[in-house]
Amino acid sequence: MIPFVDLKAQYLSIKGEIDAAVIATLESTQFVLGKEVAAFEELFAAYTQTSHALGVNTGTSALHLALLAAGVGPGDEVITTPFTFIATVSAIDYTGARPVFVDIDPDTYTIDPALIEAAITPRTKAILPVHLYGQPADMDPIMAIARRHGLVVIEDAAQAHGAEYKGQRVGSIGDLGCFSFYPGKNLGAYGEGGAVTTSNPELARTVKMLRDWGAERRYHHELKGFNYRLEGIQGAVLRVKMKYIEAWTDARRAAAARYDGLLPATGFAAPVAAADCRHVYHIYPIRSAQREALQSFLHDHGVSTGIHYPIPVHLQKAFAELGHKEGDFPHSEAIAREELSLPMYPELHPEQQDVVIAALRAWSEQASH
Ligand SMILES: *Cc1c(COP(=O)(O)O)cnc(C)c1O
Repeated sequence: MIPFVDLKAQYLSIKGEIDAAVIATLESTQFVLGKEVAAFEELFAAYTQTSHALGVNTGTSALHLALLAAGVGPGDEVITTPFTFIATVSAIDYTGARPVFVDIDPDTYTIDPALIEAAITPRTKAILPVHLYGQPADMDPIMAIARRHGLVVIEDAAQAHGAEYKGQRVGSIGDLGCFSFYPGKNLGAYGEGGAVTTSNPELARTVKMLRDWGAERRYHHELKGFNYRLEGIQGAVLRVKMKYIEAWTDARRAAAARYDGLLPATGFAAPVAAADCRHVYHIYPIRSAQREALQSFLHDHGVSTGIHYPIPVHLQKAFAELGHKEGDFPHSEAIAREELSLPMYPELHPEQQDVVIAALRAWSEQASH
């Protein structure tokens, strides 16, 4: 069976270094934050072309703290897309603000900048674009709109470590960037993890306090904060992995280019990669009107796939209070019905991709008879 992701292959490739780093952290007893986390933060800030990276316990916490540091709270509105993992929208909800949706671009699946201005009201405080599947949102028009209306921009880069928009790393374009190090993400911890990036020292200071009970000095609480600290062991794991993230990203991009070249012969379209961007292919999506049948056909042919995501957030029961209905965001709804994620990870072999392609061709051939 060709897995959809293979975390074991990556671990085995760096097992010696990881095991040593974890044991050294155990021996140091710096279990929460500490020098491994600080060393990782320095590497990650440089990697994202920002001056500050703050490690936190999850990507969701990164979003929550970025929104709070930007001053988002009850009565405010934050514009984002309904075609994302629910955490994007939940983080807005945690602050007491209202998520306001605009639809995605049907080619790139990221927020359609042409629809943003119509969604702005006097309550709008921030725009929260999602670099979905590893593809940067179209940031130039988003930043121009934000400047025109005095809005904060927070990038959800949970799926896009190392992605670039016109030569700029994601996480450095808006006021704040949010990353997840959930094990399956492009840069994955061996447990939960996340980070906020920014080049604004005031925002960095606020996030740093908020992640650790609102205190800069222990027991002197300036803000109502949280226990959102990154663990020392995760810092140690991530620090080791920073040596390899570029090679892994290049491997993902090479695998994507190979799929791109082979897909047309199967009758499926390759996903659109926007010009002037470095797409980092967290997910490699194809579309099918018979998505469920295709998924089980591929499973029977030894290929595991994923679905990201079957229900857009505006149709989730949890957010029924927002009062949306089917038809409100047609592009998000269409991709949610049709998306299928092919196996994608840095260690994916060309021979494994050939099996995936052969199975897709077999599906198309049986469908045409
Ligand atoms: C994974 C993810 C998150 C949340 O990150 P966690 O580390 O799982 O909390 C937020 N937004 C997007 C787009 C994600 O994919």
